Amino acid sequence: MKNLNSKINSILSTGIKNVHNVGRCLFGNGSILEINEIINSRKKKLPGRVIFFIDIFFKDKTKLIQSLNIENNDKTIFVDTIKEPTTLLINQIRDIILNESTKKPSAIVAIGGGSTMDVAKAVANLLTNPGNAEDYQGWDLLKNPTVYKIAIPTISGTGSESTRTCVMINPSNGLKLGMNSDFTVNNQIILDPELTSTVPKDQYFWTGMDAYIHSFESLEGAYRNPIGDAYSNQAIQICRNVFLSKDMKTEENRSNLMVASYLGGCAIATSYVGIVHPLSAALSVVLGTHHCLANCIVMRAMEEFYKKTYKEFWNMVEKQNVYIPTGICQNLNEEVLDKLYESTIIHEKPLTNALGEDYKNIFTKKKIIQIFSKM
Ligand code: NAD
Ligand code: ZN
Repeated sequence: MKNLNSKINSILSTGIKNVHNVGRCLFGNGSILEINEIINSRKKKLPGRVIFFIDIFFKDKTKLIQSLNIENNDKTIFVDTIKEPTTLLINQIRDIILNESTKKPSAIVAIGGGSTMDVAKAVANLLTNPGNAEDYQGWDLLKNPTVYKIAIPTISGTGSESTRTCVMINPSNGLKLGMNSDFTVNNQIILDPELTSTVPKDQYFWTGMDAYIHSFESLEGAYRNPIGDAYSNQAIQICRNVFLSKDMKTEENRSNLMVASYLGGCAIATSYVGIVHPLSAALSVVLGTHHCLANCIVMRAMEEFYKKTYKEFWNMVEKQNVYIPTGICQNLNEEVLDKLYESTIIHEKPLTNALGEDYKNIFTKKKIIQIFSKM
């Protein structure tokens, strides 16, 4: 365990040690059907409409949609995941909802991956907090408790179901950052591994790896939390079992990966990521690469920083025969490289966690551009 000096401590100490976890968690194949009872009891406590955010993949999956028993006065928003969530999108959805009714919804339900869950969390936050999404990108800026939130992940890895953040890109300043707050944490989650059976193989790996990457980054960082470490160690072990097995998508592996995702999310709520995420965020902001794929691309350049994990990661890629693009940072002009640098270096907390308070002396512009050139 590394000791933090007082400067690092002041950068990394944000009060997140007093951990707030998800209110309730249901687990099991077919458990999505429990949503009806949960919503009924919720509507008794606070009458009103329920707003469903559903990944657009499920739009024509009539059996699933019908099983939700969505009522006439409820609202369904299908979330397009082609682009990652922006602050602009969140503000727009907030306006649509408030124009229809200013009454606080009974609940907000998210059914989808990290993008859909984050959109739902962010909109819920804005319904009870004045101002715009960008006003709350940071740590503990939300003032008011939000709408009751239920999340049902349909792909495993980001841990958005259990984290205290919802990540958005602010297109005006290129900042990719979430609303880190206890108020962002879901009140209820339903973990139904059956839902992940339809995820395409490569996407399943890219997103699943987010749990592995969150966990090793936090274990390798300076900032330690014993509970976070326990979550991370377990999440990594499960990811190893899943991704080093013959078929990562068996029923058992899908079930286990859903647990790893949940644990990885709990871990990150008590700690910080490291080098991979700032570089990955820059790829998302500047080149539009989706988060989890961007992480995997960044891993191409991580041998120097995370030697053992680098080797294990590429073993897993080979074992599962997964496609990770290469050469995406070749032939970029100076302006784009500048943007990649700027969008990396602004992530003070994870970089301090990984490299120490003088991270800017290690992660110089030249070094960062050299790292991108390896991707
Ligand atoms: P995603 O939600 O963007 O979905 C990825 C793709 O998988 C989409 O095409 C989607 O339609 C498809 N998909 C989802 N479920 C499916 C299913 N059951 N069958 C078939 N296709 C399915 O992907 P993601 O990787 O889960 O989330 C990435 C987002 O999560 C990024 O925006 C990232 O910033 C965010 N994130 C948030 C946190 C957090 O703590 N809030 C943590 C990490 C990442
Ligand atoms: Zn991540």
